[in-house]
Amino acid sequence: MTAGTTQPTRWPRISKDLQDFPVVPNLADYDAVCRAFSWDGARRALSGLPGGGLNIAHEAVDRHAAGPRAGHEALRFVRADGSTHSLSYRELAEQTSRFAAVLAQLGIGRTERVFSLMGRSPELYVAVLGTLKNGSVFCPLFSAFGPDPVRQRLQLGSGRVLVTTRALYRKKVARIRDALPDLTHVLLIDADGEPEPGTLDLAMLMAAAPGDAGIASTQGEDMALLHFTSGTTGTPKGAIHVHEAVTAHYATGLYALDLHPDDVYWCTADPGWVTGTSYGVIAPLVHGVTTVVDQEEMDADRWYRILAEQRVTVWYTAPTALRMLMKAGADRASGHDLSVLRFVASVGEPLNPEVVVWGREAFGQPVHDNWWQTETGGIMIANFAATEIRPGSMGRPLPGVEAALVQRDENGKPVIADGLPVLVAEPDAMGELALRAGWPSMFRGYLHEEERYRRCFAGGWYLTGDIAKRDADGYYWFVGRGDDVIKSSGHLIGPFEVESSLMEHQAVAQAGVIGVPDPVAGEVVKAFVELRNGWEPSEELRLDIIGFARKRLGAAVAPRMVEFTTALPRTRSGKILRRLLKARELGLPEGDTSTIETPQEAP
Ligand code: AMP
Repeated sequence: MTAGTTQPTRWPRISKDLQDFPVVPNLADYDAVCRAFSWDGARRALSGLPGGGLNIAHEAVDRHAAGPRAGHEALRFVRADGSTHSLSYRELAEQTSRFAAVLAQLGIGRTERVFSLMGRSPELYVAVLGTLKNGSVFCPLFSAFGPDPVRQRLQLGSGRVLVTTRALYRKKVARIRDALPDLTHVLLIDADGEPEPGTLDLAMLMAAAPGDAGIASTQGEDMALLHFTSGTTGTPKGAIHVHEAVTAHYATGLYALDLHPDDVYWCTADPGWVTGTSYGVIAPLVHGVTTVVDQEEMDADRWYRILAEQRVTVWYTAPTALRMLMKAGADRASGHDLSVLRFVASVGEPLNPEVVVWGREAFGQPVHDNWWQTETGGIMIANFAATEIRPGSMGRPLPGVEAALVQRDENGKPVIADGLPVLVAEPDAMGELALRAGWPSMFRGYLHEEERYRRCFAGGWYLTGDIAKRDADGYYWFVGRGDDVIKSSGHLIGPFEVESSLMEHQAVAQAGVIGVPDPVAGEVVKAFVELRNGWEPSEELRLDIIGFARKRLGAAVAPRMVEFTTALPRTRSGKILRRLLKARELGLPEGDTSTIETPQEAP
């Protein structure tokens, strides 16, 4: 395999001093914790259902409600005007039991699918956990999805119930209802007694349901959650997760998010994305902490206010949001008391080293990048609270997670010999990131797509489709999605590295980098660049950015072409859609665009 470019080592490592920690970190000695860890041990920290079996909702809610933490604040919703509304573990247990009883009364059984289409309202959180209590399967959809993605997912998942609002129902579902024969019940959270044809009033049903109904006696391997993830082409895939996943949510909440019982924790992700479910609902509740939920969309001043006013101690967010805060300027943070914030983590796409370091200026904390996917169900690789950060690296595998890099052939396919993937041994070489199968939150299938699922595995390893490098000390460095890696004059170029360098130019806010065909080099690098506030596109600036990148990356890697854009196409979860940039550049079909944030003009 051709060697890649050098890693962004110009950024000094960030070491930690245990003396500085306001609480004793859950993972202080990485090697010792990894050696002592077993998934069975982690599972024993959970209580399991009283009669045997395992149910996520029991671990997240009922066992706290039955003990001394019953009155502890579980969820704190921040409304548009900044006022809050809270549910204790006891209240959450009661409401989720009512929701489960409503489903049972409607004849919704085990493994049947309950979908949601709504913003981050209390009813959404009650529906997730109530569905699990009934032994049914929950599938959250982004409220911003249009009618087509909603129909496609409800059809693929054979949704029996949809929980939504009147406005969303009218706008997105009513007219496609005929195409959804499996959908027998639509529950409106805001029906207010006024009938809407074809729907039921959830509040009325809840009021009439018992608040102390039991919980379904699910087993660890029973299906619990269905998360749709976009394929690069074709239809979205429905990743199946089981109740056993809660063991990983617990262990990763402990080690990767360093959750402690008195934490006030804020995960900015919407439950429509897997992060918003695994870490916006399940992991923090399993740890019995208080979770803040902002019901509004991202806004720099609002976010700083929430961090300060809600006295958030642990914050889990995403690179795009952090880059937007950075674009707004660190001075926006000043005047907000962030002194109790002790841990900041990020996930979802590459986190530029500049942002990691900038975190110290804005939040008094570096940002801890971590890596995982819909398919892995939980965090797999992380920078931990107490371990050294190498800015630009996504960190090291979680205890219990075995990661490796698999060699790729000339066509970018993983090299398999005698049924086993051939692993990359030498440090700093690229390969496809693979995980030894068997961690509890591993997806158990793609719904109705057995063959597609099977193709993700080789010789007991799950192949992630991401390209990475590993340094001599076991830190992983993201290079790109397998499909996004650029091959130019024999060099393999990771778009992330080029984007990170471009972002160090004072005028550049965000960048998306692709390879475009070139008769001589095979491919050459093209960058789409969003400028920071106060900068205007000009030929001079374009040349300056190219020159800047050349100095840092060398002529072989720096973009030959830079095009200014005002809006890079992104998914709802914030990922730059490089394949869409490429399809538009080359005039190719755009593939599945259902997860795109807002329809963008061609750049
Ligand atoms: P999703 O399944 O939608 O959550 O997307 C998972 C993909 O997001 C991964 O396969 C990566 O390509 C990307 N991703 C997630 N976290 C990171 C990270 N920390 N660094 C780089 N890429 C990431």
